[in-house]
Amino acid sequence: MKDCIFCKIVNKEIPAKVIAENERAIAFLDAFPISDGHVLVIPKKHYGDLGLCDEASLVDVIKLVKQVSNDIEATKKLDPWGFNYLSNQGKIAGQEVMHFHMHIIPKYEKDKGFMFRNEKGALNYATDEVYEFLTKAKYKSKTAKILQKATTKADKQTKK
Ligand code: 5GP
Ligand code: ZN
Repeated sequence: MKDCIFCKIVNKEIPAKVIAENERAIAFLDAFPISDGHVLVIPKKHYGDLGLCDEASLVDVIKLVKQVSNDIEATKKLDPWGFNYLSNQGKIAGQEVMHFHMHIIPKYEKDKGFMFRNEKGALNYATDEVYEFLTKAKYKSKTAKILQKATTKADKQTKK
């Protein structure tokens, strides 16, 4: 959709730090993270919100949420304690970008509970560093590498 910032990211008209994608969904770092490793997962097609989204896209979005949160969890430098998965629907709920998206918000001790901070000092890393951690194998734990291999093998078997 014209004038949609997330459609522009999908179409590579504006840059984004893309972490992963599948057929119908794409995951990239939030430009204004509220915690280290804050990622957005969106359908590649434009839908205003979850209720409007087609089911195949929803499946791909949630699959990518799972994959990326496993990746974040397995990144030695980040090592979150848990996650909040969140989607704001409607201005009243805080939705600013009217293209359906899921927030993956890694949780660390200081952000305990269903609360978020974005004041200075809430982050340990710059966005460029987080991008490195999530895209370079050297930052992954051994368990992550083993899990990744197992998942790829299982995916191949399912496709047979
Ligand atoms: P909402 O408030 O709609 O649930 O979340 C929108 C999110 O998009 C916010 O967390 C905001 O920081 C992020 N955001 C807004 N503009 C951009 C952008 O141009 N690039 C990226 N990567 N994130 C953005
Ligand atoms: Zn859009």
